[in-house]
Amino acid sequence: MKERLLGKNPEELKQIALQLGLPAFTGKQIAQWLYVKRAKSIEEMTNLSKLGRERLSQSYEVGLSSPIDVQTSKDGTRKYLFPVNGESANAVEAVMIPDGERKTLCVSSQAGCKMGCKFCMTGRQGFHGNLDAADILSQFFAIEEAGQLTNTVFMGMGEPLDNWEQVKRVIEVLTADWGLAWSPKRITLSTIGVLPKLKQFLDESRCHLAVSLHNPFPEERAEMMPVQKAWSITEIVRLIKQYDFSGQRRVSFEYTVFEGWNNSPRHAAELIRLLKHLECRVNLIRFHKIPDFPYGTAPEKAMEAFKTLLEEGGLTATIRASRGEDIFAACGLLAGKHAAEHSQK
Ligand code: SF4
Repeated sequence: MKERLLGKNPEELKQIALQLGLPAFTGKQIAQWLYVKRAKSIEEMTNLSKLGRERLSQSYEVGLSSPIDVQTSKDGTRKYLFPVNGESANAVEAVMIPDGERKTLCVSSQAGCKMGCKFCMTGRQGFHGNLDAADILSQFFAIEEAGQLTNTVFMGMGEPLDNWEQVKRVIEVLTADWGLAWSPKRITLSTIGVLPKLKQFLDESRCHLAVSLHNPFPEERAEMMPVQKAWSITEIVRLIKQYDFSGQRRVSFEYTVFEGWNNSPRHAAELIRLLKHLECRVNLIRFHKIPDFPYGTAPEKAMEAFKTLLEEGGLTATIRASRGEDIFAACGLLAGKHAAEHSQK
């Protein structure tokens, strides 16, 4: 199997060029073809010598995967299905969400997920492997809106900090001058809190952070999110408070509201206490009912009432609009429909 070039930085590409007996500057040329001109094949890299292209093609390929399916929601959201490592058995999804001038891409970082959150369809699917940088970058480069994306969120399938090395590579491609030259402000990474990697993310990038909180009480959070037993939300918030979020960098907390589980005044009070002295936002998310799950969707009124309690306690809170529900592209639903279809085959 050929090694994939997509995801490698100019220095790594230079080393490959030198190993193949090509001039060192070929590394920079390849990076330009990959990230600026978005070449789909080595054959397209016409300012490389013919011999250079031949040598490169013997052991390498670009590694760009094309989507195998696309669905469009009535609200304009589009969900793309991508093969992983060229195989469609464990396909992953990327969701493009248009909003006025903005086009945000929600990307997947793993096929399935190890974390097992009980309310999440991806978690129920189990873990089928990490995506490499080429698989993640394909979600950006091979969709129809590739040249128009304004923002991205690592919020699709999988826990991005459980695949930090590859996600970090992708962030480097997105933000480096030799890559897409995006500001880190255009990128948000969402995590349930893999503590050691979270520290690396905070130290090694300047991207925004979103933390899946869902319940401020450790024992209750552990009922739904097994990760709580390894890395408590208390520890996570303590770590985050050591960083500066008063300037350009932002932190938000995702809080899916389950009727009767996490939306009482007691929960609001504890959330206010937990996040005290932290410049942040709480995003309240409407839960999409899934099969065999004890809690339901909170009515709009209950969502509003919980939001008001948080605001009265000094927190900034928003109710996040749900997008792409009709194509199962909303939070926590990714791969649910696909997995169900797959199991019927
Ligand atoms: Fe994994 Fe996120 Fe789903 Fe939890 S909510 S199982 S971390 S994809």
